[in-house]
Amino acid sequence: MNKQDFNEGLLGFLDASPTPFHATQNMAMMFANAGFIKLDEVHKWELEHGKKYFVTRNDSSIIAFTFPHANNYTMVGAHTDSPNLKLKPNPILKNDGVVKFGVEPYGGLLFNPWFDRDLSLAGRVSYLDSKNLIQDALIDVKKAIAIIPSLAIHLDREVNEKKSVNAQTDISPVLACGDSFNFDKFLKDELLACGVEDVVELYANELSLYDTQKASYVGVENDFIASARLDNLLSCYVGMLSICTIDEEKPMLFIASDHEEVGSASTSGAGGSFLESTLRRMFGDYEAYTQMIRSSLLISADNAHAVHPNYPSKHDKEHAPHINKGVVIKVNANQRYASNSKTISRFMNIASSLDEPIQNFVTRSDMGCGSTIGPITAARLGIDTLDIGLPTYAMHSIRELCGSDDAYSLYKILLGFSE
Ligand code: ZN
Repeated sequence: MNKQDFNEGLLGFLDASPTPFHATQNMAMMFANAGFIKLDEVHKWELEHGKKYFVTRNDSSIIAFTFPHANNYTMVGAHTDSPNLKLKPNPILKNDGVVKFGVEPYGGLLFNPWFDRDLSLAGRVSYLDSKNLIQDALIDVKKAIAIIPSLAIHLDREVNEKKSVNAQTDISPVLACGDSFNFDKFLKDELLACGVEDVVELYANELSLYDTQKASYVGVENDFIASARLDNLLSCYVGMLSICTIDEEKPMLFIASDHEEVGSASTSGAGGSFLESTLRRMFGDYEAYTQMIRSSLLISADNAHAVHPNYPSKHDKEHAPHINKGVVIKVNANQRYASNSKTISRFMNIASSLDEPIQNFVTRSDMGCGSTIGPITAARLGIDTLDIGLPTYAMHSIRELCGSDDAYSLYKILLGFSE
């Protein structure tokens, strides 16, 4: 696959995946098309060597793996979730002549970029059907149905000096004038539009607002890609394509987990049992499982902060990654990243054999360091781990920015691990 096709596919994946549920569904479709066999956690697994499989949990996390006789797996980890605004269970607010959504921030989002965006809604809806069964369906409204209008500068003259945003009172999007809007009818119509007719009662939902602006190239030479959810659908896309491309005789596993942005402590998060339980079912007894863990490498791929050209002092000058200058290896002496000299060397060895550039990131010593699924998985499983990422600006904005070269470079390196 050439870089252009790779990036076109990335833009499509980003637009089709407004929530972790949709990202998981899209990856599952991709794996099924690539010959992976679907497994269900509630049924007995009878795995055959030489075949390849995938399994989902909570519709929002997914694992795909090849199953050769070798046990020295290259595992690639990423996360499906991104910071956003989620609807509260009783989401309808009415005041001053309009209907608004009551929202709860999910993860550490930048609030300001959410103002004045044409927002749509997507996620999972659970309902009772006429056979008395509880069912779920994914909806994606697609149309712009809500917006968080800024307060005019005339009503807040100091806004450019001291804008702060109150998460409870300032970010409720407006969706209609008057007060006739009926949320249940709206959801039933959306379900109907997805072919779901048999809805007796709506029970619960997990719905997120998202920006309707499509992912796009930006820059006079298309050097950048701008989109929502680059953190971390970018890594999901690279991991997904890598395992779909490699020879199934090579041991590789890809996991994309939900809930990284809120600490990973959930059934479908990296702190949960999903990966361990899958690996134990793959390898059976504890001896074989332990040998596999200690022979394998986890590459935890999550976005990295490129040095911002307007705020260069926010980076350590010697560890300030640039956009389109290659994959970033993340290091933290206090184990906020799981990379160590051995795991870094394995990655450098492949990158260098392919002439792919790499960069190093260490956060400034006087600033706190973020973390990711790498240390969580390393601690839980005891697997040698490396934290890497693709350089981005504006992480956790509603529109993030990455380079149009770096993801393709990571793809080539990941394929190199199976050579
Ligand atoms: Zn991330």
